[in-house]
Amino acid sequence: MKLLEITNYLDTRVPLSFQEDYDNCGLLIGDPNTEVNSVLICLDCTEDVLDEAVKNKHNLIISHHPIIFKGLKKIIGSNYVEKIIQKAIKRDIAIYAMHTNLDNIYGGVSFQIANKLSLEKTQILKQKTNAVTKLTTYCPPSHTNVVKNALFARGAGRLGQLYDRCSFTSTGMGSFRPLKGASPFSGNIGKDALFEEDKIEVVFCSYLKPKILSALLEAHPYQDVSYIFDKINTDAQIGSGIIGELKKDMGLDTFLKYVKFSMNCNTIRYNTVSNKKSIKKVAVCGGSGSFLLQDAILQDADAYISSDFKYHDFFEANHKVIIFDIGHYESEYFTQQLIFDILKENFSKLAIHLTSVCTNPVLYY
Ligand SMILES: [Zn+2]
Repeated sequence: MKLLEITNYLDTRVPLSFQEDYDNCGLLIGDPNTEVNSVLICLDCTEDVLDEAVKNKHNLIISHHPIIFKGLKKIIGSNYVEKIIQKAIKRDIAIYAMHTNLDNIYGGVSFQIANKLSLEKTQILKQKTNAVTKLTTYCPPSHTNVVKNALFARGAGRLGQLYDRCSFTSTGMGSFRPLKGASPFSGNIGKDALFEEDKIEVVFCSYLKPKILSALLEAHPYQDVSYIFDKINTDAQIGSGIIGELKKDMGLDTFLKYVKFSMNCNTIRYNTVSNKKSIKKVAVCGGSGSFLLQDAILQDADAYISSDFKYHDFFEANHKVIIFDIGHYESEYFTQQLIFDILKENFSKLAIHLTSVCTNPVLYY
């Protein structure tokens, strides 16, 4: 199978446009026309992981964290990133990263944590802005279904995981005057015309905009098509972190044990909140989650499970939410299985392996 087939699928299933501005997801190293023998999945593409790929003849590594994150001006092996890049290219191993785009999809990294904790009534904690666009266009009623079907076929009108082909149509009167040289769908040159038209409104993921526009122009009967694209601020299905509820309230001690067991972590850094006798509402975020602390507080979470909190974050949380800092690697460990499952959904015969290397650089004494 060509690498391009795999990256095309991943770019659709976990859209690159969902990544944060600072990120660098997608194919980082490799020739898209390479035949992929087998895939190795990891959180971090370390040199040990690369050696494992060489030894077992995996020629595609899919990692959560992008090995190339900042701009590079030279690749001479002067740090671990440059060494890994050199070695991967020499050994003909491609590297693909699924980072904040995997955080932001529905069913992504934080959902894995929510599932491990059996949270119910789960929702995105902070919705991503500008991920969705609305198209408004006008066409004669005789062509409404043709236009809508063309838009649906390119992915417009999908709402979450459970509904597709969603749209809104209203009927009104459109006016125009065709000028000399025009070949109008209806009406006469130089004469004002008034015709019944349908207004079609449909939403889609913003990254689909070029495809949606070409579908509209292909299917629409008018010589000049009028359309408006509006960015919609948020979508409940796209964003970072998850908030949900435990089946039953738990006391702090019980919940500490429960998190430690469910997430298989060694150590939990936490604070106490004097007026919280029990925990029911829980927010979670895989990786460095202090940027969502205020969102967890605003949504009345009793506990917020994530990692990489600073000393002063614990003061900010005090009296409002109990922070559970379970460690970065520990919070994202199950992401490897998530990537595996996403690949298997589409490539059941592809050889896919999880790394046997523990890439956590942090040790606990
Ligand atoms: Zn991370």
